[in-house]
Formats: sequence, structure tokens, C-alpha cells
Amino acid sequence: MHDGLAAWLRASAARIHEEAAALTVLDQKIGDGDHGINMDRGFAAIVAMLDGREAPAADTTDAAATADLLRQAGKTLISTVGGAAGPLYGTAFLRGAGALAGEHPSAAAAFVAALEAAAGGIAGLGKAAEGEKTMLDALFPAARAARAALDGGGDLAAVVGAAHDAADAGAAATIPMLATKGRASYLGERSIGHQDPGATSSALLLGVLAANVTAD
Ligand code: ADP
Ligand code: MG
Repeated sequence: MHDGLAAWLRASAARIHEEAAALTVLDQKIGDGDHGINMDRGFAAIVAMLDGREAPAADTTDAAATADLLRQAGKTLISTVGGAAGPLYGTAFLRGAGALAGEHPSAAAAFVAALEAAAGGIAGLGKAAEGEKTMLDALFPAARAARAALDGGGDLAAVVGAAHDAADAGAAATIPMLATKGRASYLGERSIGHQDPGATSSALLLGVLAANVTAD
């Protein structure tokens, strides 16, 4: 799992870099036009952290090493990204790391627990709920779909695939929503008709994970 996490973080950084301009265009419509820049800066810092990092100690379990890496990635986002998304995603990673450090019957179950904890962490920090046109509108449906796939006997690829599909649908579903949290809420009714940048980046990150898991 540790190597898979590092690969996902690197692939995410590459994808975010490619999509930075598109994410920024979305944020220009309903925010201050920095979401792509924020995400690109944060994930570039994660890559630098990965490059400079020592290999986990030989006596560390894979679960502990994975949780520790996700925690470091979260701290990196919090310390390098000035916008709302840095602390929000950073907290999501820290909460996900906390969940990964626990005992799980399978990698699929560990992923679902981490995704649920991540979404809950963002909701707590952002004082937000579903339906307010934020990244939570991608992440909560993703967590529910992942849980349902796991309960149905799905393996890691099936569970991550379900999460990604639900996140994509959730991001698209933010278009008609009225923003009531974050900068987009300043626009009031004018926030309607645009897809939320954070929901879009959340779906993108889960898409990279889905591509990575099925490629294994
Ligand atoms: P900023 O809003 O500081 O410019 P970004 O542009 O990087 O930060 O991120 C904006 C995204 O953050 C939004 O599209 C939304 O998904 C998310 N967001 C903003 N405020 C909140 C909140 N209170 N709770 C959850 N998500 C939020
Ligand atoms: Mg912004």
C-alpha cells in the first residue's frame, strides 16, 4: 500500500499540473481564480517531499508506513497552500491517515474508511455539508458509493472505481447548486450554473487513483 500511495501522489501531481489551468478557469467563474495554482503548488511540494524522503524503517508495517506518508502529504499541503483547499485537503489527508493506521480486513476496507474519514474531516473544518457546492458534493457521494461497493463484496479496484464514478457525478451535480460556503458564496445566485472547482479536483484525484489501482 505504501508504494501505491506514493505512486498515486506522484501521478496526482502530474495530472493536477496538466489540469491546473482548467481548475483555475472554474475558480475564475465562482472564486478568485487560484484553485489550479493552489493545487499545483501543493502537489509539487508533495513530490519534493517524496523525493527527499528516506525509505520507511525496515521494522515499520506497511499500514504504518502508508499512514505516515499520507500524514506527511497532508502536512505538506497545509504548510504550502494558502487557499482554503490546502487546509481542507490537508486535513482530509491527516484524517485519512488516522483511519489507515487502524486495523482493516482488506485494502478495500482501509480505503473506504480513509475516504469516509477524509470527507468527515473536511466537513468538520469547513463547517459544511452536502448540497453547499463544495468538494464535499464529490467526496460524500464517493464515500457512500465506495461503502456500498465494499458491502457488495467489491475488491479495491471495484470500490475505488465506484468512488470515482460517484465523485464525477457529484462534481457535475454542483453546476445547478447555489454556493453557501467559501468564496463562491459571495456570489449568491450568480454561483449557479458553474461547476465547483474543489469538487472537480476531488473527482480528478479519485480518477487518478482508479486508473492506478486497475493498472496494478
Ligand atoms: P480559496 O477559496 O481560498 O481561493 P481554493 O480556490 O483553492 O481556495 O479552493 C476553493 C474550493 O474549496 C471550493 O471550490 C470548494 O470546493 C472548497 N471549499 C471552500 N470553502 C469550503 C468549506 N467551507 N467547506 C468545504 N469546502 C470548501
Ligand atoms: Mg480560489
